[in-house]
Amino acid sequence: MQIPLIRLQCGVNSYDWGKIGKESAAARFAAATPSDDLTVQEEKPYAELWMGTHPSNPSKDVETKRTLLDLVQTNKALMTQEIAEKYGEKLPFLFKVLSIGKALSIQAHPNKKLAEQLHAKDPKNYPDDNHKPEMTIAITPFDGLCGFRPLAEISHFLSTVQPLRWLVGEDAAHAFETTIKGKETSTSESDIKTNKEALQKLFTALMNTNKDAIASAAKDLITLASSSGAFFAAGGPASNSGEELASVIERLNTQFPNDIGLFVFFFLNYVKLTVGEAMFLRADDIHAYLSGDIIECMASSDNVVRAGFTPKFKDVDTLTTMLTYSYAPIEEQKMEPVPYPYVALNAAAYSANSSATLYDPPIEEFAVVRTELKREGAKATFEPIQGPSIVICTRGRGKISVGPKQQEVQEGYVYFVGATAELVLEAEGEEFVTFKAFCELNHN
Ligand SMILES: [Zn+2]
Repeated sequence: MQIPLIRLQCGVNSYDWGKIGKESAAARFAAATPSDDLTVQEEKPYAELWMGTHPSNPSKDVETKRTLLDLVQTNKALMTQEIAEKYGEKLPFLFKVLSIGKALSIQAHPNKKLAEQLHAKDPKNYPDDNHKPEMTIAITPFDGLCGFRPLAEISHFLSTVQPLRWLVGEDAAHAFETTIKGKETSTSESDIKTNKEALQKLFTALMNTNKDAIASAAKDLITLASSSGAFFAAGGPASNSGEELASVIERLNTQFPNDIGLFVFFFLNYVKLTVGEAMFLRADDIHAYLSGDIIECMASSDNVVRAGFTPKFKDVDTLTTMLTYSYAPIEEQKMEPVPYPYVALNAAAYSANSSATLYDPPIEEFAVVRTELKREGAKATFEPIQGPSIVICTRGRGKISVGPKQQEVQEGYVYFVGATAELVLEAEGEEFVTFKAFCELNHN
């Protein structure tokens, strides 16, 4: 039997929001694998490297040029029969590198049921019938908007950022304030229900304001941000300083002048991730990424409902009705990675503080292990798993092996590893960082 270690050539796409030329990790990683179609151009934005079987940008075997989709369909043992049956003979997950130069659209991904409905009604804008929970791990410092802020923060902005209050309207602002007052952090189910309804009404009022009103309020907002410095939004709520809020607003306005997103900002948590930090977005969670390079893993789907910071198709009605309107502080949006237990590190790896860290979201389609080997000869041996993996190197270099087959790895190299294979990674030099996405059913 063929040894299930396959080097992949993965496509990078060029959306407007990508980082430019070689500043884009997605572009550099894509260019690390020889390809006829890619020479990184200095002025062009490169946004996403796709690793997986999704038909919009399928990965290929470097040697035979066969698609990974074709390979897993003709040899189901690569994924295991169970996973092939459950997920329809394609990888359950889509693994990506995103290089974000400017804000991505304000968006949410539909749950399974809504995805089926949207796809049936409008297959052009909703190409998949699948849900798309997604996980983000920073590989350079990242910032973004994620989930609704605690209600007290939204109230704070309604009373300190006049252009926001003017735009949503005095009636909507007042109704929200009186409904939630004193119950902002209540844990009673009925309070949470009325709070969420109030938040939905306020947010829907904002999202349905007209273009002229937004442009006029945006002008006032920018004047306010540039003139009030540390006193912007009366110094900000605890999670952000006035200065920081003002500078993000000014930055966003240069990217998307007069956009509704400038005001959505006051509804959503402003999240910063340091390298290695992560967050998980459930289906129907609202978010917008602002800058940084990240590893992203999601259920294999390309469904996005957008409503701001985008020239693409917007679907405000679907977005405002689909959201869960859960509100929580930033800490609850972040994930807590844990040491990965199914790996053996050799002595060289231990002595140099090497690590294998697991990011395991509460869904079945995927998990990710980040392995950092910090000394020449440091080695990590992964126990075989009952499912497929994709491995990408983001820093340094080393070797990857399955059984007797051993290959070189450098920054940007991507490998597919079939089910039940014992995988070994070994550093060459002081640094070797990889991310491995995998799926395994019924794992305890
Ligand atoms: Zn998303």
